Amino acid sequence: MKPLQELVRPNIWSLAPYSSARNEYAGREAHVFLDANENPYNTPHNRYPDPLQQEVKTALSKVKGVPAENIFLGNGSDEAIDLPYRCFCRPGVDNVVAIEPTYGMYKVCADINDVEYRPVLLDENYQITADRLLAACDDKTKLIWLCSPNNPTGNCLVRDEIISVINAFGGIVIVDEAYSDFSSQPTLRSELAKYPNLIVLNTMSKAWGCAAIRLGMAFASTDIIGLFNKVKYPYNVNLLTQRQALEALADPFQVDKWVRMLNLERSRMIDAFRLLPICEKVYPTEANFFLAKMTDAQTIYDRLVEQGIIVRNRTRIKLCRDCLRITVGTRSENNELIAALRQLQL
Ligand SMILES: *Cc1c(COP(=O)(O)O)cnc(C)c1O
Repeated sequence: MKPLQELVRPNIWSLAPYSSARNEYAGREAHVFLDANENPYNTPHNRYPDPLQQEVKTALSKVKGVPAENIFLGNGSDEAIDLPYRCFCRPGVDNVVAIEPTYGMYKVCADINDVEYRPVLLDENYQITADRLLAACDDKTKLIWLCSPNNPTGNCLVRDEIISVINAFGGIVIVDEAYSDFSSQPTLRSELAKYPNLIVLNTMSKAWGCAAIRLGMAFASTDIIGLFNKVKYPYNVNLLTQRQALEALADPFQVDKWVRMLNLERSRMIDAFRLLPICEKVYPTEANFFLAKMTDAQTIYDRLVEQGIIVRNRTRIKLCRDCLRITVGTRSENNELIAALRQLQL
């Protein structure tokens, strides 16, 4: 990895961040708060929330096995996807490399930040080699985006290739593990101490069943976390979200139960799909969804919509011609989808 100062945008490196009232008294015992122009009434919503979400990070640290100082919390993964651009990529100058197909937000954030986005096509097994990713990089490449299990394909990338990329690349490698709870592959967040240029993303939106509260996270070196904290909005995670996250984190066994149930349903649905005459192939998956190649994805999609059943049509995505992406739902939702597909007359 290049020295961090060489990777960070000069204006961000020298940035003096906003200093909030809650930052400045910094944790000393206090009971009279006349520092932040808050209304003294309407507890608890009158007070600004903890800008660094220490309580949530302490609880997360136990669940995820990552020290609290290596955790950044954001307004969904969306914020943790945007921040690397804002911290590392000079608009109109730097570029990033990513796999294709993958999650759409990496490109949207590149476009918003006026950063060149260089997609590298996966092979027919939806895999990539380190060599091909590195061949797409030049001296202006700041970030490499990986997603494992990948969306929309569902599979995990080969771990040795990810490790090779991290070892060989001078910039930052971001591995989005939004779906890792559904996967049997070991997570990379346990390897953070070894790789100062690694950022691992997680979210409360999938296995944790909390998409509505908007809480995403990045695990990385304290240097990178410090950069993110400097650039983020001061109160980026609101009090209601912090409270709800604490409640969810108090019961991690609930997540285990959901994951076991959803993974069983996933197998059952895949078996049913494989028997459908209109299904040509189901791709291997380690997520709470699977990609199915159909005879005619557009027509099938339209017919399902007419019946009030919505799946994701990925037919216009590279390497996903005639593919539908199916999220695993409740047993009865899944049964409804399968029954509708069995009755379709194309
Ligand atoms: C769903 C998803 C997320 C979640 O994003 P949030 O902003 O945290 O809801 C992140 N990454 C990938 C690849 C996803 O599919």
